[in-house]
Amino acid sequence: MRWSHEFLTRLRARATGAVRDAAKRVSQRAAPTAGPIPEPQERKRAFAAVPGSRRQWLTAGLLLLIVPLLSLAVEGLGNRSAAKAADLRVTATLALPDPEIPASPSLSEPAEPTWDVQRVGKGDTLAAVFKRLGLGPGVVHRVVHLNETTERLTRIYPGDELAFQLDDEGKLAALEYQLSDDQRLRVHRVDGELVSEIQQENLVTQLKHTGGVIQGSLFRAGREAGLSDRLIMDMAGLFGWDIDFVLDIRRGDEFHLIYEELYRNGELLRAGDIVAATFVNQGERFQAVRFTTENGDEYFSPDGRNMRKAFLRAPLNFSYISSNFNPSRFHPILQRVKAHNGTDYRAPTGTPVFAAGHGKVIASARNKYNGHYVFIQHGNNIVTKYLHFTKRTVRKGQRVKQGQVIGYVGMTGLAQAPHLHYEFLVNGVHRNPRTVDLPKADPLPKAELAAFQQVATPLLNQLELIQGRTLLAVKD
Ligand SMILES: [Zn+2]
Repeated sequence: MRWSHEFLTRLRARATGAVRDAAKRVSQRAAPTAGPIPEPQERKRAFAAVPGSRRQWLTAGLLLLIVPLLSLAVEGLGNRSAAKAADLRVTATLALPDPEIPASPSLSEPAEPTWDVQRVGKGDTLAAVFKRLGLGPGVVHRVVHLNETTERLTRIYPGDELAFQLDDEGKLAALEYQLSDDQRLRVHRVDGELVSEIQQENLVTQLKHTGGVIQGSLFRAGREAGLSDRLIMDMAGLFGWDIDFVLDIRRGDEFHLIYEELYRNGELLRAGDIVAATFVNQGERFQAVRFTTENGDEYFSPDGRNMRKAFLRAPLNFSYISSNFNPSRFHPILQRVKAHNGTDYRAPTGTPVFAAGHGKVIASARNKYNGHYVFIQHGNNIVTKYLHFTKRTVRKGQRVKQGQVIGYVGMTGLAQAPHLHYEFLVNGVHRNPRTVDLPKADPLPKAELAAFQQVATPLLNQLELIQGRTLLAVKD
């Protein structure tokens, strides 16, 4: 599936949040520390709305790509029943711990001056944001030079939010900025002098569970089950190697999930990751459980099989395929039969290209035909080749991981438009990258199987319960 590599990239990128830790985290949920004085609701909401990571942007982009596909695919099957059948949604209360949300801030305190929340726009600078509040460059200078932490304010991004309090004379009284999920920078005045502090915020991960039966579309059923679009995408990515979510989804398919939710200071910040999931597709049941390996968090089936393949089907997010693998192609420019030994993926210049699988770079160079190119040697005598980059990011001899960026789409060498020419060779023979059988990634090593099963068994039991409840509710 096209989106899977993003999913995998993300998986590897995230080194924290193991299942075995999740249980611990949940049980360790400390009472809110005697920390900062609770702030008015309004401001907290403003901060909670700060768009977080690049990952959310990626996900948004992927959604744009895939939502129309998924809706198209399921439109047909839903037509007859769509009118009467809303997708069924079940939320059950099981043995999972309930969120222990810290008490709301007391409202009996004296009213604070109001906060003016400024959102950083594209091309915005800190000085420009300050200026909107009538604050001059002198204040900006003093704030960012307070210390190393306040210097971070010079690296703000579009979508970030800064909260300001001004005093009666219009001078800066306080400024707050979310540094990370659980750290907030606060600059304020003490005896007329600006000082800064970092407020540690109470971040809590809860496990949630839900399930549903698809009547119309996966997205509709997912949303009705309370899932964010990103979680729906994650689920599709998770099972995307086994189920074709464009063609294989049928009415009556079921999903059941246990996933994380992140709370900051008692308020939902965002959904976290899937911890365990079941998907029943046309009567066939697929299950996956998250587990931390030396490659980071990965998902395995109950018997320890890796959920992902050893290779990405396509090593980039492409716009369309401009030329397929074709051993007897008639070349339009050369006016003769010249095999096209790979797939040409059209994508804008600068689109990142990922290593299709773990391996070692055996060539990273430039010539007049290939332009900037990279070749990677993988296990099982497989070599992948990537041509026409505008820029390479790996060196010969370097080890790369699946999903790692190795270069960017361009049109160097013999290319008439920006695209990636991608080849897949098995034992030196060119194979069609779009149809070649891709091996599964390594299963869990035997030594880790016992630890995995210790994590997996209770989760799978819970999934079983969730599934039972969901189906019971569907019958009613
Ligand atoms: Zn080509």
